[in-house]
Amino acid sequence: MRRTRNAKIVATLGPSSSDRAMIQSLFEAGADVFRLNFSHGTHEDHRARFDIIRDLERESGRPIGVLLDLQGPKLRIGSFAGGPVQLRAGDPFRFDLQADVPGDTSRIALPHPEIFAALEPGTDLLLDDGRIRMKVDRCVADFAETTVVVGGALSDRKGVNVPGVVVPLSAMTPKDRRDLAFGLTLGVDWIALSFVQRVEDIVELRGLVGDNVGIVAKLEKPAAIQALDAIVQAADAVMVARGDLGVEMPPEQVPGIQKRIIRCCRQHGRPVIIATQMLESMVAAPVPTRAEASDVANAIYDGADAVMLSAESASGKYPRQAVSVMNSVIEQTEEDPTHRQMLDASLTPAPADFAGGIATAMRQVAALLEPVAIVAYTNSGFTAYRMSRERPTAPILGLTPNHGTARRLSLVWGVHSALTQVVASVGEMTSFGCQATVDEGFGVRGDTVVIIAGLPLAQSGTTNLMRIAHIV
Ligand code: PGA
Ligand code: MN
Repeated sequence: MRRTRNAKIVATLGPSSSDRAMIQSLFEAGADVFRLNFSHGTHEDHRARFDIIRDLERESGRPIGVLLDLQGPKLRIGSFAGGPVQLRAGDPFRFDLQADVPGDTSRIALPHPEIFAALEPGTDLLLDDGRIRMKVDRCVADFAETTVVVGGALSDRKGVNVPGVVVPLSAMTPKDRRDLAFGLTLGVDWIALSFVQRVEDIVELRGLVGDNVGIVAKLEKPAAIQALDAIVQAADAVMVARGDLGVEMPPEQVPGIQKRIIRCCRQHGRPVIIATQMLESMVAAPVPTRAEASDVANAIYDGADAVMLSAESASGKYPRQAVSVMNSVIEQTEEDPTHRQMLDASLTPAPADFAGGIATAMRQVAALLEPVAIVAYTNSGFTAYRMSRERPTAPILGLTPNHGTARRLSLVWGVHSALTQVVASVGEMTSFGCQATVDEGFGVRGDTVVIIAGLPLAQSGTTNLMRIAHIV
């Protein structure tokens, strides 16, 4: 089974997509990577979904990526005594560190000491995805007095955002550490780190997971945008997390930032996922709005690797339709000649190293000879990432002996990954590569393939060889 598009689809699983039939239909409709969102659900819920995905993978013979999304230090208020309260502009409102008494219209618990350390008079506090806004008047170690600027109904455990303030918090809470340990024993392929603020957050996670799990940096804090280049280089992939980003920053700034992040990721050859509200109205309707179709298409025109579904596939009424709409919008967009022009125009020179040299040559050879596939032998995925960075006109067949690599590559633009045995010589590399091209449905006898590898073959990061061959 091969997809007829380059950009990938990430679908979040949740209550609407937990049984085998539904997960299978999402996969068949086009989901390449499944996201397990650890902001919701129990370990047992996630394990059941994970097992179904691995089962589907065995049955279909196609590597499927699993992305564990850690909740991160999402700050939340406590609970109210008598249900939601109504806050009016101009009202005083107090936050208390101590959580022993329930809240009312004048106060609520905020059980995060770090936040009190970071607040100053004049700081804006946003609640419930930015729907409610307060300004801090006074703040000490265990309480803060604020004035409501934009009021509304406030209910239990709503999220709190402090835009523009670097909160002295690790990107991982104790819950995240437990979830991470659980995910590593399951054997997930990607870990997404929420509310990344500094490059050290990525470095810390890397120390815990090593090199066999990919790290997705979720960009949803202004501080992360300031350290964009370093964070992109330290991570294995990036998510433009527009939900929280659009609360932390004015929403009108998000489109420009999205484009900047995509450019930065493409320059460094890191896969980039565009996330949140892409087809939001499909939570309740079987068809998207024109604006949503356009949002997905524009991410593809900009050269994103993947587009993501959140509530649409996790808790909406039409998960399969949402995947299927994304699939057809991507296909249509990639068929438009303007898409190719935009990809070419936004390509920057490859890094000046051996892989960059091979990738640059590969791209030209692919344009000239129109091979049926670029066969990239890859252990860690490095070679395939670097070929994908060039956005070549031919599909990339990523051959690897490593299950984790094959699954991680399901997120990467233009890459169709497949397992291969370890090859011992350039001769074997050529014959197995041609055979895989046929087996995976990319070509027939007589077709041209371009084969990329690194010698010595078993060593990662040594891309230094291009071989052009006819399938015999
Ligand atoms: P979330 O992240 O869905 O985990 O909040 C994505 C976003 O904030 O856009
Ligand atoms: Mn978020």
